Amino acid sequence: MNQADTEIVTSLLQSEGFVPTGDEASAGIILLNSCAVRENAVDRIGNFLQQLKGRKRRNRALVIGVLGCVPQFEKERFFDAHPFIDFVAGPDTYRSLPSMIAQVREGARVVRLEYDHRETYSGIDPVRSGRIGTFLPVMRGCNNSCAFCVVPVTRGRERSVPFRRVVDEVSKLAASGYREVTLLGQNVNSYHDAEDGRDFAALLDAVSREAPGMRIRFTTSHPKDISRELVEVIAGRPNICNHIHLPVQSGSSRILELMRRGHTREEYLRRIEMIRSIIPGVALTTDLIAGFCSETDEEHRQTLSLMEEVRFDSSFMFYYSVRPGTWADRNLQDDVPEPVKKARLQEIIDLQNVISLERYRQDIGRSVEVLAESESRRAVSQLMGRTGTNRAVVFDRGEFAPGDLLQVHVTDATSATLVGVTAGAA
Ligand code: SAM
Ligand code: SF4
Repeated sequence: MNQADTEIVTSLLQSEGFVPTGDEASAGIILLNSCAVRENAVDRIGNFLQQLKGRKRRNRALVIGVLGCVPQFEKERFFDAHPFIDFVAGPDTYRSLPSMIAQVREGARVVRLEYDHRETYSGIDPVRSGRIGTFLPVMRGCNNSCAFCVVPVTRGRERSVPFRRVVDEVSKLAASGYREVTLLGQNVNSYHDAEDGRDFAALLDAVSREAPGMRIRFTTSHPKDISRELVEVIAGRPNICNHIHLPVQSGSSRILELMRRGHTREEYLRRIEMIRSIIPGVALTTDLIAGFCSETDEEHRQTLSLMEEVRFDSSFMFYYSVRPGTWADRNLQDDVPEPVKKARLQEIIDLQNVISLERYRQDIGRSVEVLAESESRRAVSQLMGRTGTNRAVVFDRGEFAPGDLLQVHVTDATSATLVGVTAGAA
């Protein structure tokens, strides 16, 4: 989401005559787009700011702005704590960036942290960094209240980009040569058009028909909102990738209730069964949090057992970090000691690696359809691409180039990558 926001900010600034530089040292304005979702992301911004402080001391004319969720979350405190920052701008205020910069150049320090519950930045043509695939935010904000999460505070209430606008945008992307689009939202399956109430299943169906030559992906889905109808749309449309990212966070129903996720372990497993019965071979990935408040060893083992039962393709795995002001911060005790959180996380990572390796190795000897994305980092003679199930594949390029859809015969696998040889155009 931040990458997509940065592309919007770049567009807003370029249309006012600002020019991006590839050379940080020559920049007259430096903007940091920040993430507040976990403590280590916030710490990273802190480290960057320390470097910028020295640079600002040497060059008083340098304009430094911090955008996004960290200032939105920490409010004026953040600005007061860093007197060398010229302005801070929350996620709903980016249309005013040119005027903020103008004010700074006239000597002001500027704080813009208002919410705008209608702002979707629709109508702005982002300066896209990808050439083969790109992101398209379809909704912003979140109306849930998961106990550990800052997103409802930092990004405000849910609002969706109008249906017609999303479809037109996808059509434009297809016409300009994009081969893949990922529809983005904190909770994409809450999408609904404000005018006529059309939902995410309808949107996905319409988008996939509008651009039949493009691969369609989406993220993130909330387990409590994933409907049979949506899964049937994914199964029925060949260009919608058979991959669902469905964060579970914990395998314990008691912890899920404390997290205010709105479903139990059993309900989650029933959703997985429903999805697999409708889309055989679907890839499922997840997010997991180790060491949430009061989690016992037994409850941690329930997370491991859920992983064994579902056998996710891959996971984003974190240990719990308390975020000030969240429901958990106000109502629960962050009482699992950090070494225990870290040890549990390591067990989760180790198990996921074993499961991913086993699942990836099942592709050895098979042919998979791959969209080539880029040159491989290892060798220019190789390309990197992805299967519809989102597995990375590395192969000798032969006559193929990024953007081609081709068949690759898989010869080897690690827990994160398939290795193969080209077997012709798809
Ligand atoms: N909207 C998505 C959902 O509900 O599944 C998730 C969005 S959140 C920005 C991304 C992931 O960060 C979460 O799924 C969760 O695993 C992790 N996360 C969020 N807050 C966290 C916290 N306080 N500590 C550790 N991990 C956290
Ligand atoms: Fe955060 Fe929960 Fe909303 Fe996801 S659904 S963004 S975890 S509050």
